[in-house]
Amino acid sequence: MPSIKDIMQTMEYGPAPESNAEVKAWLSARSAGIGHFIDGRFTSANGDLIDVVNPATEDVIGRVAKGTADDVDAAVAAARAAFPEWSALPGHERAKYLYAIARHIQKRERFFSVLETMDNGKTIRETRDIDIPLVARHFYHHAGWAELVADAFPQHRPVGVCGQIIPWNFPLLMLAWKVAPALAAGNTVVLKPADLTPMTAHAFAELLVEIGLPAGVVNIVQGDGETGAAIAGHPDVDKVAFTGSTDVGRIIRRQIAGSGKKLSLELGGKSPFIVLEDADLDAAVEGVVDAIWFNQGEVCCAGSRLLVQEGVAPRFFDKLKARMATLRVGDPLDKTMDMGAVVSMKQLSRIKTLLKAGEEEGATLNLAPVALPEKGAFCTPGFFTDSHPANSVSQVEIFGPVATTLTFRTLDEAVALANDTRYGLAASLWSENVNRAIELAARVKAGVVWINATNMFDAAAPFGGYRESGYGREGGRAGMLEYLTTGWDKQGKVRAASAAPIDVAPATGKADRTAIDVTAKLYIGGKQARPDGGQSYTVYGKGGAAIGEAGLANRKDVRNAVEAANKATAWGGVTAHNRAQVLYFLAENLEQRRDEFVAALAATGAVAKPEEEFEAAIRRCFWYAAQADKFDGAVTATKSQHVTMTVNEPFGTIGVVAPDEAPLLALLSLILPAITMGNRVVAIASQAHPLIAARLYQVFETSDIPAGVVNLLTGERDALAKTLAEHDDVAALWYCGSEDGSRMVEVASAGNLKPIWSDLGRLRDWLDPRFGQGQEYLRRASQVKTIWLPYGE
Ligand code: NAD
Repeated sequence: MPSIKDIMQTMEYGPAPESNAEVKAWLSARSAGIGHFIDGRFTSANGDLIDVVNPATEDVIGRVAKGTADDVDAAVAAARAAFPEWSALPGHERAKYLYAIARHIQKRERFFSVLETMDNGKTIRETRDIDIPLVARHFYHHAGWAELVADAFPQHRPVGVCGQIIPWNFPLLMLAWKVAPALAAGNTVVLKPADLTPMTAHAFAELLVEIGLPAGVVNIVQGDGETGAAIAGHPDVDKVAFTGSTDVGRIIRRQIAGSGKKLSLELGGKSPFIVLEDADLDAAVEGVVDAIWFNQGEVCCAGSRLLVQEGVAPRFFDKLKARMATLRVGDPLDKTMDMGAVVSMKQLSRIKTLLKAGEEEGATLNLAPVALPEKGAFCTPGFFTDSHPANSVSQVEIFGPVATTLTFRTLDEAVALANDTRYGLAASLWSENVNRAIELAARVKAGVVWINATNMFDAAAPFGGYRESGYGREGGRAGMLEYLTTGWDKQGKVRAASAAPIDVAPATGKADRTAIDVTAKLYIGGKQARPDGGQSYTVYGKGGAAIGEAGLANRKDVRNAVEAANKATAWGGVTAHNRAQVLYFLAENLEQRRDEFVAALAATGAVAKPEEEFEAAIRRCFWYAAQADKFDGAVTATKSQHVTMTVNEPFGTIGVVAPDEAPLLALLSLILPAITMGNRVVAIASQAHPLIAARLYQVFETSDIPAGVVNLLTGERDALAKTLAEHDDVAALWYCGSEDGSRMVEVASAGNLKPIWSDLGRLRDWLDPRFGQGQEYLRRASQVKTIWLPYGE
């Protein structure tokens, strides 16, 4: 036995295992197999059962059923049946249930922590101190939203039945992120846990029985990807909420295109962890521990790309190696372990394959000198040096405890490297200079930014990504909106089949050109541009008479317009006050051409009240000018030593596709909110009435709108919309057209996963401010960036 002196010298830890007797007993009582939880009852486990393995011991700890299409049907039917009563409950009643869930989780914290550790392989330290407390916090926070929802979101109602699909890396926490807001808003739920980690969801269902949640409000169907696909594709599911890999996110985007289902996607990441030369290096080293070795690196927002300023890089990497040598990897139930097992042997081999590829590409893998247990899915923590931005390990999500590193000289270089990824989930920034840190926070493209911190989460702080990390937010006010709807945007009558046909042949017969005779051009980069294809199409007006010609844009014109828009980045940095001034000026200039526009609208033969439409257009400019400096972010109450800001950031370039009705007002109603929030726009004007766009660009030209901020194209609506949907540099797309077109743009966007706002081919009453303008437009024109700043002692 070692003496106290020996112990003091070596500082060896003794084992400190957490007892799992209670959980083992629970598992053995369910050894026959775990079924689904449908309509308040547990089904018996029939059919093919999936083995559930503790990755740290490789023992099978249970078996779960694989949900079939029939199981999904039954669960959706139960959720549908429960919806009317649950959604009609006063918020206070729902709040009581959510509060009871939170309380019961807290009372069972130890049980849930041990079960999660045995199911997933993560350490008890993390399940006990992070996962389960955050789960309880999420239900408390949303008990609050249930209480307040009617007051806080007066124009909204719950979406309906929500199909929710979650991954294995934070099993119960991801469940809480999905279930809590859904229930608070008044929805009912069909949730599928990951097949690797089904246990805590089952225990959660038992807890729901205990607290007496009405049957059918939450249904849990166990299973794999096929079960998930059956949920996402079920015709009676109104919203799909998915957390998982970007590839599956794409599959779901395509699968439900055109269905009108609301969709939120929380996908992968390759998040930068930026260390400036003036950072507190020791603190930043501890940050890396939490960024990439927390949860074995199986974290969507892991700081997996360490970007270190050149002057301090060697010192920083030395410190990191020294710190890495002290990591303890082993039995996750041992309270002294820093890292447990990755989720499965398969995941381990996936990680190893990626690491091998990194080494083959010339990067040096620095591994911690730790002895791993002989059995189990344990992975040595480490980091790459000599890696290059183009290396696969710098681009692909490893989802294991290994980071890549790159160095940079200037802040500009740091920003360029940080944004050199198709993802945009999170960023962690380390600097003692607040100015530099804030500048970086503004310039990195990420939904969550931690300054001198990393991997911090709170129910009040919206979480979610930019770009291929998905869309939608979880947590806080923004998260609640994912589970609510106003519903107005898809309720109008279906539009008549087609936009007017494109007719490029010379018009026959004598045209009535008394009122207007123009050959409209395109408007790209602040200049009138002839269409690349050199073609125009005939525009017909009142009584079917040809009244002019409009440019027929093609793919090249779309690309030129996007390029021009992407150059006009300065607009995002213009003050809100100045953007408002531009919008007022636009109204002023429009007003001076009132007669001309009214005549042009009348000449279309499609506008019943041209004066009214024109007047509404002027008012709309004023309304968005008024909103420019009022559609604010917020400071949310998260952890005591942080001030957490939510900022509404522009997307960049938004594509907008205008319908044929209200050719002036609809076009402006789509352009104005986008530019109000600092976006640039590539707009496709009404196919049938494109001459209005030609008048409009003359107004834009004289209204101090910088070149490239608004680009206007005319031509075949859906062909141009498809190019916009597929374009990687168009960050979001609003489509008003046909039902087929709505489906088409949603499918076409699956590659780059831009958020699409399509109207399913429904007419909109643009004159009515409830539908033609509003905060919904501004919300769709911005993405929430959550910035965590140290604050206070
Ligand atoms: P995954 O995409 O393979 O699986 C996620 C879930 O989707 C599982 O429940 C799975 O059964 C189900 N699924 C698989 N195919 C499906 C299909 N065709 N239709 C419907 N459902 C299907 O991901 P994973 O390996 O379980 O999780 C790791 C990924 O999750 C990583 O990419 C990680 O970044 C991401 N993640 C993201 C967040 C976030 O908030 N952004 C959080 C956690 C994890």
